[in-house]
Amino acid sequence: MDYLQGLNPSQRAAVEQIQGPVMIVAGAGSGKTRVITYRVAHLVKKGVDPFNILVLTFTNKAAKEMRERITKVVGPEAKNIWMGTFHSVFAKILRVEAEKIGYPRNFTIYDTDDSKSLLRAILKEMQLDDKLYNANFVYNRISSAKNNLISVAEYVQNEQIQAEDFSTGRGKLGEIYKIYTQRCFKAGAMDFDDLLFKTNVLLKDHPDVLYKYQNKFKYLMVDEYQDTNFSQYLIVKKLAAINENICVVGDDAQSIYAFRGANIQNILNFEKDYPDLKVFKLEQNYRSTQNIVNVANSIIANNKNQLKKTVYSENETGDKIKVTRAFSDNEEGKNVAEAILQERSLKGLNHQDFAILYRTNAQSRAMEEALRKLNIPYKIYGGLSFYQRKEIKDLIAYFRVTFNPNDEEALKRVINYPRRGIGDTTVERIIVAADANDLTFWEVICNAGKYIDSRSANQVGNFATLIQSFKVMTKTHSAYDAALHIAQHSGLLKDLYDDKSVEGLSRYENIQELLNGIKEFSEREDIEQKGLDVFMQDVALLTNDDNDKNPDADTVSLMTIHSSKGLEFPQVFIVGLEENLFPSQMSLSSRTDLEEERRLFYVAITRAEKKLHISYATSRYRWGTLTSCEPSRFIDEIDARYLELEYKEPQKPAGNPFFDNERSSWSASRSTDTFSKPKVGSIPKTTSILPKAHVPTPGFAPSDTSNLQVGMEVEHERFGFGKVISLEGSKPDIKATIFFKEIGQKQLLLKFAKLRIV
Ligand code: ATP
Ligand code: MG
Repeated sequence: MDYLQGLNPSQRAAVEQIQGPVMIVAGAGSGKTRVITYRVAHLVKKGVDPFNILVLTFTNKAAKEMRERITKVVGPEAKNIWMGTFHSVFAKILRVEAEKIGYPRNFTIYDTDDSKSLLRAILKEMQLDDKLYNANFVYNRISSAKNNLISVAEYVQNEQIQAEDFSTGRGKLGEIYKIYTQRCFKAGAMDFDDLLFKTNVLLKDHPDVLYKYQNKFKYLMVDEYQDTNFSQYLIVKKLAAINENICVVGDDAQSIYAFRGANIQNILNFEKDYPDLKVFKLEQNYRSTQNIVNVANSIIANNKNQLKKTVYSENETGDKIKVTRAFSDNEEGKNVAEAILQERSLKGLNHQDFAILYRTNAQSRAMEEALRKLNIPYKIYGGLSFYQRKEIKDLIAYFRVTFNPNDEEALKRVINYPRRGIGDTTVERIIVAADANDLTFWEVICNAGKYIDSRSANQVGNFATLIQSFKVMTKTHSAYDAALHIAQHSGLLKDLYDDKSVEGLSRYENIQELLNGIKEFSEREDIEQKGLDVFMQDVALLTNDDNDKNPDADTVSLMTIHSSKGLEFPQVFIVGLEENLFPSQMSLSSRTDLEEERRLFYVAITRAEKKLHISYATSRYRWGTLTSCEPSRFIDEIDARYLELEYKEPQKPAGNPFFDNERSSWSASRSTDTFSKPKVGSIPKTTSILPKAHVPTPGFAPSDTSNLQVGMEVEHERFGFGKVISLEGSKPDIKATIFFKEIGQKQLLLKFAKLRIV
């Protein structure tokens, strides 16, 4: 049995235990996924028909990789194994059985956008307040009901649910759920959650069908079991009920989808469900260096709720974990991009050996821009590149229309978003009128009264006035003020703000992040032209995305930590390790949520094989105000002996006589200055060893710098204290090169620089 050679004794025992219920709860990188892969190969080698094997994975990518490996051992037969995500596997089964539950075999699958647009239509028909009944919120509520197998009838009869809905003024949710369900049914459509919900209905109401699949899937395996929800749990339990040949693997320390209904109890209940359960322990981590494993262990030890387990590594000790501080998120991006460049050439690595992981999608902007500047190819996984996201394209479309109202694509995009009563028919009419009269789209819009009926013409006219007012705004205001004005007065910001779902929040954050980028741009102290039009010239290049054209290209991977589950990379950068970002602000008020954030950090750390980089910025823009950030409590939780605190100590410039006897005040010394006052009800952070942002001297006000001389000492609002090294150019465009203690050398255009002569 040569093919089992790549397993250690416990892994091998788990692979060879092919009969009866098996559970492996083990730490990251210990070979759980590998055990499933080998186990399937082993079953086939032992003569089990591949058609009788069902493997449920967390992503389709994982299933694809697993199948490739199995094919190497068992040959082309591997293609007959049932393998994929819960959604893909049960959609396939429902295609066969749909008629039994009243659906056509060729039922449509509504993606999230379809579902939400149907909900929007229903909410409009019901004339409900769109603040209380936001489509995303309603969608999530229905989704969560379905994942807990709560039918419409149960929903409206359940006293607890009803009490909760009524207390928040949302008593109509049950009725919406009912109408939504009826409409989907009439349309012959199932949404994502239906794929699992209806499978449950099918297996419950049709014992013959259940029996058929119980006999078909004689062997079941589930990877990432800790993140299954109730609906998934029950499907697996039912299917396994006769043969009980079920093997689940997971890690409670990596449970990170509670907000989507995943239930850690599924692991804990497993022992109760199967008294004959065989439990296997895997303790050796094969993925990461000892330092990385030790850091992961030291972090997770802070969680009270966890199953005790040992994880160790016999790999090399490895480099220490590098902690880098930046003074802004853009600087953080630059540091990461430069480190990738350096590590690549130093160690002869490929781009694909690096991953950048972040807590929120919005953080990709700074990373993407920095990578592009250094021509480092990258790919965003599990999401779109920042400038490809719908909400970003929407706001950018407003900017485009403002500067070029003839931009027809942009116009069409925003003419009725957010809704302002300009329906598709009206848009059609504008198109026809433009064609017939040889006018541009915009020309028709500006003379709407001539071409379309008066009711719609009014609305179209208002839209034209709105865009014209934006144009005026950009002429008289800074890029940031104009952009914020457009975001607000277009109604876009409000539309996103009203959406309180997780996705809605993420979209709102993305807009905020775009505005932050513009703010930073409008405060640049090294360029002259800083209008929104100039910003847009830069952006045009970023929106032109050539990312996905070549899927096999050698690229750096960017993704949220949630999407990184199960994956591994030689070098991993975890960015934005700051209080209120990671752990996220919302998690700070409850221990349960904070522990989930910590598990998320554990997942992130354990993706790294050889080297882990962690970074934080001491300041970020939030709503146009530079706010100082506190390093994350998670950094402090790591045992300091595994850390290399690297703050990019500024290099002394050659021949610079100014700093001979000085040391930067922040270098590696432990700061006793702790943290700003914790919010009421939040879990306070303990003392940090890490330095924070430059805090300007109280009453900081920029001085007149027209007589600035080489050698003078200055304080900059953000960069801190420094000395003037050289001056060049003539008034009013004098540029000063200043050496700042904390961040090194910078060149600033004096007329913009916020400097105080000390
Ligand atoms: P996660 O919890 O992150 O999903 P996991 O427990 O599923 O991790 P795997 O991905 O299966 O772990 O394994 C981690 C890495 O270690 C993989 O590269 C795998 O090939 C390797 N590995 C696992 N077991 C062994 C072994 N016995 N010998 C050599 N390499 C191994
Ligand atoms: Mg795995």
